[in-house]
Amino acid sequence: MTARRGGLIGLLLATGPGLAAQALPQTAAERTGYTATSTNAEVGAFLDSLELAGAPLAVSELGTTALGKPVYFVIASDPPVTSPAEAAAAAKLVVYLQANIHAGEVEGKEAVLALLREFAGARRSLLQKLVILVVPDYNPDGNDAFGPEATNRPEQNGPPRVGQRADGLNLDLNRDYFKAEAPETRASLARIYATWDPALMVDLHTTDGTRHGYQLTYAPPLDPNGPPGPTAFVRDQMLPALRKTLEDLYQERIFDYGNVDTPLQPTSWDTYAPLGWYGTNYVGLRGRIAILSEAYSHADFRTRVRVTHDFVAEVLSYAALHADEIRRVEREADRQTTLEGAGLAPRPNLAIAYRLASRGVEPVVLEVLKPNPDSGAGRPGRSGPPALRATGVLHTYQVPVNDRFRDSLPLALPAGYYVPAAEAAVVALLRLHGIQVEQLQTAATDSVEILKSAELKWAPQEFQGHHLLSVTGTWTRGARTVPAGTYFVSAAQPLGRLVFALLEPEGYGLARWGVFDRLLGSEAGALSGLVYGSAAHTRRPDFCLSGGLYPWGRDCRPLHLRRRRVDRSFSAIPYGGSRTRCREVPVSHTIKVIAGGFVLLAVCLLIGRWVGGPTPATGLATAAKVFMPLWLVAAAINMWAGVAKAGYSVADEAPIFLVVLAVPVAVALIVLWWLSHG
Ligand SMILES: [Zn+2]
Repeated sequence: MTARRGGLIGLLLATGPGLAAQALPQTAAERTGYTATSTNAEVGAFLDSLELAGAPLAVSELGTTALGKPVYFVIASDPPVTSPAEAAAAAKLVVYLQANIHAGEVEGKEAVLALLREFAGARRSLLQKLVILVVPDYNPDGNDAFGPEATNRPEQNGPPRVGQRADGLNLDLNRDYFKAEAPETRASLARIYATWDPALMVDLHTTDGTRHGYQLTYAPPLDPNGPPGPTAFVRDQMLPALRKTLEDLYQERIFDYGNVDTPLQPTSWDTYAPLGWYGTNYVGLRGRIAILSEAYSHADFRTRVRVTHDFVAEVLSYAALHADEIRRVEREADRQTTLEGAGLAPRPNLAIAYRLASRGVEPVVLEVLKPNPDSGAGRPGRSGPPALRATGVLHTYQVPVNDRFRDSLPLALPAGYYVPAAEAAVVALLRLHGIQVEQLQTAATDSVEILKSAELKWAPQEFQGHHLLSVTGTWTRGARTVPAGTYFVSAAQPLGRLVFALLEPEGYGLARWGVFDRLLGSEAGALSGLVYGSAAHTRRPDFCLSGGLYPWGRDCRPLHLRRRRVDRSFSAIPYGGSRTRCREVPVSHTIKVIAGGFVLLAVCLLIGRWVGGPTPATGLATAAKVFMPLWLVAAAINMWAGVAKAGYSVADEAPIFLVVLAVPVAVALIVLWWLSHG
């Protein structure tokens, strides 16, 4: 199969309809015998040549970098589509391929350019089922900051000169997905995620040096806070199938991304991090399928381009073959997330701290490492060769494969979050993510959760231009009136779990990146609950929900939802904190209690009629009068249970007590009036 690429051009000539032989460009890697990688300008020239030759693609620009370079954006489709609506009308699945986000990791860029050329010929049939969006050079500023590989990618085996990891603003774009400070991130959120909403995203990288026996490793989305369906599909079905295909068809060995815990004596194979700042984790939070691809940095450049090409080609084939199933899984994820946010399905417990979890012990092929006798490590003031040396010998270890995360400290998904009227910039950021935000036209009183006596700890080390903030505190519940103009971000939308990930103050969202720093501390501050606290209320959705819309009607009474914390020392990842449970008392409980009042009234009236009096009416009237103090006692017991057993405050329970008391008593009074006038 390794000769396949050489024959590819010939194949294209034979099958590419109407494409002239000399018109098909070569990539910089192909032209130089894999001794160089493309500049951003060469990427643009290659794409323009393909388009001019009649390949089924449209080239435009996603945006412009900090240094003024274009980020090229390709829509490959046959027949051409120019909008998501056209793709949907043609029943095509939209797939997004992204390369070179870490611009020293260059093989993804060369591989997707070769694939784009194949869409003109051998792989054109993929476009019957797919619309394929491609950004071959997501980080042009980093790409063109060429330097020696020994400096920019010391653990990488060619080409000799590559770009740098960071973008023109010195940001790691694969940590920027929440705060969206980089122009590349903002452009992709606006033009790709919020517009095209791709069903599948593939992010192409190179590993950072771990010695293993695989040409490529991969990972699904890792944040357990994402809708479970799409992530389970890609992790448990799609990736194992692709692994087998690469082995069977290409003799290329691939496996789950990981690193060993102790290189000399490996005892576990651990994936990386669950946070949504990373691209593929972010896509998982949106309820879509994503795949992280990491070619093996110690394999030579040609091998890395080939395995990345083959892997992506098979990802596309799989997506085309399973397009209907993928669409179904994602539609269901959207529906379920919306129902959960609306309180129509049980509210999921989501993580604000994580721990690694294993899928079981499996054989993992690793390179045997030995201590390096020439190493300068351990001797103060000495540098020199690394402490371990590679032996070139592969060995199969039986170790736990830690390929996922679980929550170690969960919170229930709230109904939504209030954001103060002045925070229009935060709202603009949420809308950039495609999140729906409403602005209250009148003041509203609501039952919210309030983070009191918040403890704020800023990390001493700078990270991506920030000192990350961790927030802990004590949650209480209470009524607050938010003024007109306040924003409400409902969790009852397809991106409801992303809402949690971005806004939950104790999680790894925007508060951690300092977005709410200005508001901290004051009574009206971000964490007081008046303006930002997670409004862990919900309203009667069966009452409010109509016609597919979610009007948060003012007449809808909040349900009770509260959190109980057991352990909050969760600063580290992974963390083995204790599980806590959230409870919800539904409105139906109140309705049942009131119904019980009617039953008691009916029983009293029956007894009154049976015991009788001077007249039948006086027996009934006595029964109605006896009922009222009896029901007062019963309603008081119900309130006591709410306060003492379920943990609500007297203020919370008082309105419910009045309703529970008043409705049956009013009926008893009507009976009395009717008896005296009848
Ligand atoms: Zn990378």
